[in-house]
Amino acid sequence: MKNKIQLIEDKLKKSGIKYNLIPLPESLPLDIPSHVMFYKITFSQATATILYKTDKGIVAIQRRADTKFNLEKLKQAIGVKQLEFASESDLRELGTKNGLVPLFGLQVKYFIDKKVLEQGKIYGSSGDGLFGLAIQAKDLPKVNNGQIIDVTERPILGKKRVYSGVRATGRLHLGNYLGAVKGMLALQDDYDCTFSVVDLHAMTTPYDPKTLKDSIRSVILDFLSAGLDPEKCRLEIQSQVPQHTELSFLLATLYPLAPLEDLPTFKDKKAQYPKNVNTALLYYPILMAADVLLYKGELVPVGIDQEPHMEVMRECARKFNQVYGDTFPEPYRFKTMGEYVPSLTGAGKMSKTVEGSFINLNDDFETIKRKLAKVPTDAGTTGGDVPKIGGVATLFVLLALFNRDDMHKKYKQDYMDGKIRYGELKAFLSERIYDELKPIQEKRKYFEEHPKIVDEILKMGNEKCLKIAEETMKEVKEKMGLSI
Ligand code: ADP
Repeated sequence: MKNKIQLIEDKLKKSGIKYNLIPLPESLPLDIPSHVMFYKITFSQATATILYKTDKGIVAIQRRADTKFNLEKLKQAIGVKQLEFASESDLRELGTKNGLVPLFGLQVKYFIDKKVLEQGKIYGSSGDGLFGLAIQAKDLPKVNNGQIIDVTERPILGKKRVYSGVRATGRLHLGNYLGAVKGMLALQDDYDCTFSVVDLHAMTTPYDPKTLKDSIRSVILDFLSAGLDPEKCRLEIQSQVPQHTELSFLLATLYPLAPLEDLPTFKDKKAQYPKNVNTALLYYPILMAADVLLYKGELVPVGIDQEPHMEVMRECARKFNQVYGDTFPEPYRFKTMGEYVPSLTGAGKMSKTVEGSFINLNDDFETIKRKLAKVPTDAGTTGGDVPKIGGVATLFVLLALFNRDDMHKKYKQDYMDGKIRYGELKAFLSERIYDELKPIQEKRKYFEEHPKIVDEILKMGNEKCLKIAEETMKEVKEKMGLSI
């Protein structure tokens, strides 16, 4: 009996086109952003097959991930009066589910939006979560006998605004890189992005004014070395755009005090720095709301630890819109595969402020090896499922994030069979991590040696940011009755 992937290959071969099946890591979520990041492609190369229920039965429409349908146009083009998303049970009946609808032949009528065909190579689902499928866009109509239609409303490209920031508290670590920077990298090609060194946020916990300037510069260098491209996104230093604090005060007039005191992030910081519970610490989420809303950000690539702050941000936007009229979008977090990178100590998350918890972007191979060697493990003979907490769990999360082949599966099997060898796993993992960090470290050297280029990038970014910030503040002040 043939397995699923053999059946898929049979279908593809029958259509006589070239294709690649790309093995996917087990832990990859079924959404498009995760796949875009994994393939290292842009949203315009990713496609989704959407199933609709219509008055003439179920139909499948292929769309480019960076575009949106005009539903009226769509109804006309496919000749139906009613149109709604197919339900989970409809999908089940067709032997598929959300996120897994294949790029080719289910037994329903197929349409392809013209925009998809403007690409060279496109990526979609093979129908089996273990593999992604890449083909030449021009071959798509052959694969599924698709009828070409022209129903894109507008490209989302360049329209959706993205904002994210990293505190100026030293060098970036793997948590910052995987949870935030990787999301920024995935979005910078297709969206209108502003990325910031949030230096004011760094001042809410104890800091040294003598080294703050270096810390700010260091984050910018890490941004650039990791691949943020000033041609594609704006880079700013938060304190250089004074409208951040101005807007935060105005938003604070709308936001109640009590929920801020209840936020887990505030409680954690209070416990961590009992002698430094300043007002700005409490105010942090309002300043963060202002950071994003100043640019009317809709997508925010940050780690899962920021979710409570995202809620405050949405409430600020909602409240403002209710009281002063529609002004701000309600921003959502852009999730990455590394939205929660656990600590090397096996307890809690990887964080700059917890000694022994992190690997820095500038750690060399020996340092990475030494740090991984300290991750606590069990005797390795326990068998059963891989634990969800503790040092072993940390190792497996890192394996899933840095491994693009089958080693994650192999070590998981070894664990379950009770024959895992942590020394070997840690050596393999050290190599994979260093492979990814090495080019970043080399690029950083270049920027360290060319400070004038960095100055120029910051100047350009600041100018562009100030312009947008001024526009937003003009609108906000007028609406709030502050213009004279
Ligand atoms: P830190 O928590 O190390 O002080 P920041 O507060 O400056 O870092 O966070 C910068 C970005 O990095 C935020 O988007 C945050 O969600 C993300 N981040 C921080 N730690 C982690 C982690 N362990 N896993 C995933 N994302 C993280």
